[in-house]
Amino acid sequence: LKRRLDTVLRDIEAELRESTERGEVANYIPPLASIDPAKFGIAVVLPDDTTLLAGDADEKFSVQSISKVFALTLVLGNRGDSIWQRVGREPSGDPFNSSVLLELEKGIPRNPFINAGAIVVADILLGAYQPRETIGEFLRFMRFVTADDDIYIDHHVAQAENDSGFNNAALANLLKANGNLDGAPAHVLGVYHHYCALAMSCRQLARSGLFLTSSGRNPITDTRIVAAQRVRRINALMMTCGHYDGSGDFAFRVGIPAKSGVGGGILAIVPGIASIAVWSPGLNRHGNSLLGTQALEMLCQQMNWSVF
Ligand code: GLU
Repeated sequence: LKRRLDTVLRDIEAELRESTERGEVANYIPPLASIDPAKFGIAVVLPDDTTLLAGDADEKFSVQSISKVFALTLVLGNRGDSIWQRVGREPSGDPFNSSVLLELEKGIPRNPFINAGAIVVADILLGAYQPRETIGEFLRFMRFVTADDDIYIDHHVAQAENDSGFNNAALANLLKANGNLDGAPAHVLGVYHHYCALAMSCRQLARSGLFLTSSGRNPITDTRIVAAQRVRRINALMMTCGHYDGSGDFAFRVGIPAKSGVGGGILAIVPGIASIAVWSPGLNRHGNSLLGTQALEMLCQQMNWSVF
């Protein structure tokens, strides 16, 4: 398996490096606009700690919406299923930052992976704490899940989003107006933008997803992160809502649970078998990594991996 995976990763990298069509980097977050679109990295980690890498797999990038998976995991651990009173579990079929359904559906976001839903999750995490404490708790959780202290939040990226994230501010205000935000919008947005600004490499990100392949335990450190039943549900949400209005196409082409971020990363889970992270900053029209999706499609096809 390892030798075959190694060859497959190398072939995928070689083929995609030649690609002339790479998509557009996210330019609405100023520091992300200057990232080199030619970057490409991929990491596959198996539950026995075997790690296979290709390309720029050790370079850190902005994880962005992939951190919504970990914020959801943390909040489920803290608050349990009561969170489902404030956020739904249906794919939205709308862009990641849409406010349309929020107005129609009285401030209950469709799912925790669109921005409105993730802002509600940030609000629940914040609770009665100060934003600084909540951001610190989230970072500690990420270091624990990954068993790696070399993970940080890029404050420059967070600040840039705080300064220019008018769309997210509109969502937070709509949530507040509908009675689905306890904290002050500025505090909640501070927490949300900081957890999106998490910087990790493909190697680290793939390691952080191991508990999703292994029924809620990190098999390397032998620690429980979350209950097995919760992991199945988190994976179900990644499958149905992990790529915004491109989720159906992703399921059709790749066929495993995954979550994308506008930094160009994707975390993908083959339950029981592997955790995969891929990074290529150019995005398709839905805001998902163009070559990252292609890489996962090739990998899953060649390894015969699918949850279907
Ligand atoms: N921080 C980004 C935003 O709120 C996350 C979006 C994404 O990665 O899809 O717009």
